[in-house]
Amino acid sequence: MSVTKQLYQLQEVDLELESNERALKQKISQLGESSEVVEVRTELASQCQHLKGLKHQQHSAEWEIDDLTSKINTLEQKLYDGRIKNPKELTSLQHEVDGLKAIRNQSEDKALEIMGQADLAEGHIATITNELKNLEADWQLQQQHLTTDIEQLETILSDLEQKRQLILAEIDPQTVNLYQELKRQRGTAVARVDQGMCRGCQISLPTSELQRAKSGSLVRCSSCGRILFLA
Ligand SMILES: [Zn+2]
Repeated sequence: MSVTKQLYQLQEVDLELESNERALKQKISQLGESSEVVEVRTELASQCQHLKGLKHQQHSAEWEIDDLTSKINTLEQKLYDGRIKNPKELTSLQHEVDGLKAIRNQSEDKALEIMGQADLAEGHIATITNELKNLEADWQLQQQHLTTDIEQLETILSDLEQKRQLILAEIDPQTVNLYQELKRQRGTAVARVDQGMCRGCQISLPTSELQRAKSGSLVRCSSCGRILFLA
């Protein structure tokens, strides 16, 4: 095999290596926590905290109502058991009972409002929990696929690396250095020749250059300096 064909093969393997390395890097960057899952998890925690606060308020309101009811019962017993005869005292007692009942009504309204809010929060929590479950399942599946893809890419890369070493072993080190230097400078070291043109710089090549390249010897494009390869 001519040295230019070997160099061209080396370039093909290098390009394939680079593209698979990019793919691997991209897949690896997708591994790990999903920001969407983290966001929904945080939202769920905050909603649970909110519900806890509402439940606490609800219990306080219920205790307050119980406390008022027991006070009202005691006063009403006094009011109706007939032991108090003084009309003034009875009227004042009745006022006290009315006042406590008004406060109790307010507390009951407040308790109802809190219960409504707690119901809403519970519904919201159920929705978020469900959403989180789905997101986590999707994420887990995606991570599994990524792991499989990464394993496949690593196998491909290791095969390509082996192929590269085999090609390199066939080329003399000085030519390999020239290849590496051109690759570093111009992105690609070897240019195909097509219809008498260097595909690296799109310039028509002199006949003498073409003929030498055709023979398989190492010829560099007089315009861009790349190594010419005729298929
Ligand atoms: Zn050229």
